[in-house]
Order: sequence, then C-alpha cells, then structure tokens
Amino acid sequence: MSNLDRQAVPSVCGGRGFVVAEPVRELLSPRRVSLGESTEVRRLLPNLGRRMVGAWAFVDHYGPDDIADEPGMQVPPHPHMGLQTVSWLHEGEVLHRDSTGSLQTIRPRELGLMTSGRAISHSEESPRPHARLLHGAQLWVALPDAHRHVDPHFQHHADLPTVTAPGLTATVILGDLDGAESPGTAYTPLVGADLALARGTETRLPLRPDWEYAVLAMSGEAHVDGVPVLPGSMLYLGCGRTDLPLRAESDAGLMLLGGEPFEEEIVMWWNFVGRSGEEIVQAREGWMKGTRFGEVHGYDGGRLPAPELPPVALKPRGRVR
Ligand code: MN
Repeated sequence: MSNLDRQAVPSVCGGRGFVVAEPVRELLSPRRVSLGESTEVRRLLPNLGRRMVGAWAFVDHYGPDDIADEPGMQVPPHPHMGLQTVSWLHEGEVLHRDSTGSLQTIRPRELGLMTSGRAISHSEESPRPHARLLHGAQLWVALPDAHRHVDPHFQHHADLPTVTAPGLTATVILGDLDGAESPGTAYTPLVGADLALARGTETRLPLRPDWEYAVLAMSGEAHVDGVPVLPGSMLYLGCGRTDLPLRAESDAGLMLLGGEPFEEEIVMWWNFVGRSGEEIVQAREGWMKGTRFGEVHGYDGGRLPAPELPPVALKPRGRVR
C-alpha cells in the first residue's frame, strides 16, 4: 500500500531515545486516513507519540469493509525505498504486481513480503471478482543500513509456522516467536505474529525482555496485559517483559509486533525510508522522472505521483518524546 496521505509529513524515527526500557501500557489511537474515495484506513504507526516498534515503522489497519459492489483496493504503481512491506489479510485478497515482475494474489493468512532494498515499485488491487469483505493490515519494516541497498525482491509464503497454546494459535508472519521462525527474510531481530484467540481464552505469550513490543487489535474483544484493546487500536508495551497476559472475551484477532530497538535514526517521507533529506529528495526525483524504480506491468491505470516535498529540511534527529 502507498502512503496516500495528501499532507505527507516527514517523520523522523529510530534511535534509543524513543524506546521505553520498562514495561508500559500505552494505548495508541489510530489516525484515520482516506485512501481514494471509499476506503479509509486507521494508521497506528507512525503515531503522534510513537514512531517505531523495533524495526516496524508503519502500520495501517483497514476493514472489514464490504466491497461487494465496489472496486475495493486500487493502489496505483508507486515506489518504495529502504523498507520491506508486509501484507496481512484476515479477509479478501490483494493482487500484487511489482517492478521485479511479480504477479501474486495474497490471500488471508498468507505472507506477502516485498523487500524494496534500494528501489522497487508496485501496485495493489482487489482482483475481479473478489470476496465481499476486505480486512487486513499493511506494515512496513525499516531496513538497517547494512542491508538497505539490497536487490529488490518479493516473497510469498502460504505456509507459516505456528505456536499454539489452549485457545491460542500464533502464526509467525516475520521473524521469530518462541523458537518458531518465519520463512520470510528478516534483516533485523524482530517478530510479527498473528494471534487468533478463542472466546474465554486466558493465556500468556512468551516475550524477550530485550525487545520492545506492541499489539494491534484486528477484531473481537481482547484484554492485553489487562487493558481492553478495541479493533483498530494498538497498545505499546515497551521492553522488559518475559511474557504477555492475554484474555479474550470473544473470539479475537490480534497482531503482535516487536523487535530489538532500532538504533539507527531514519528519515521517513511518503513511501521512502532514508538516512538524510537529500536521499529523500533524490528518491522523489527518481520516481517523478521515471529513472530509478522500474516499471509495473499490467496495472489498469497510471502511476501515483509523489506529493510535494515540505519546505523544511528533512533531517534525522534524536529524542523527541
Ligand atoms: Mn506500497
């Protein structure tokens, strides 16, 4: 998915100054962002008070939307740099095309993992015909400096490892959880896991005290460390936990996001992650001139133009909290 926010505000993220060393329960409200005419997403990251969780730098939750009589998701070709995109669906399907030639339908509980490396472009659309409901999350992972210029590539994994406990199935989307490791390539120590909880479940999920974590609520009524978390909101949990108490009042769907605190300071603007304002300016120019991000074939429609750059300099900086 593209950041279609008309006011693309630069966001400076990363660095130890943002990380909370001890366990906290910080409820993050979503910002509602329109995608096209009919779709609205709830943006959890970056958030006013919180920019990253480990290397996770962007989280949108959307749906469930009834798109039976609508085109559904139609995101024209747009570029990415310095990040990975993770597509995760609970309902519906998304047809992914990219400039490396990928053409892949992503279905519920399958990993669509696109590593932009230095440059990629892609489009995402609801196929025709498509299921009535569309419900999912779009997430970005910042690439560390040592790997941010890798060759762009796309991975699709329909068969992901799970960790189970009575009433809980945790599907490991990216990284590792309790010894189970996703086949998707990760470039920093992290985890993204889908937590399916049956009504009445009370359990504890093992965590690593040196990582920071957050939980995104997708559906149902769940309590995370005693805090009721409504669908479309996210609870930031800080570091220093060996496990996480979960309780489900109804069948519930959550996403656990976590990882080693991301030490590098990054500059994030529109669909790009860089290390300086200059890199962002060059990336924007490369997209607008059509010289850098390749071509997406087969999408019925034009490319997405980049928004105007803000008049202020884009600089990475340290502590903002
Ligand atoms: Mn995208």
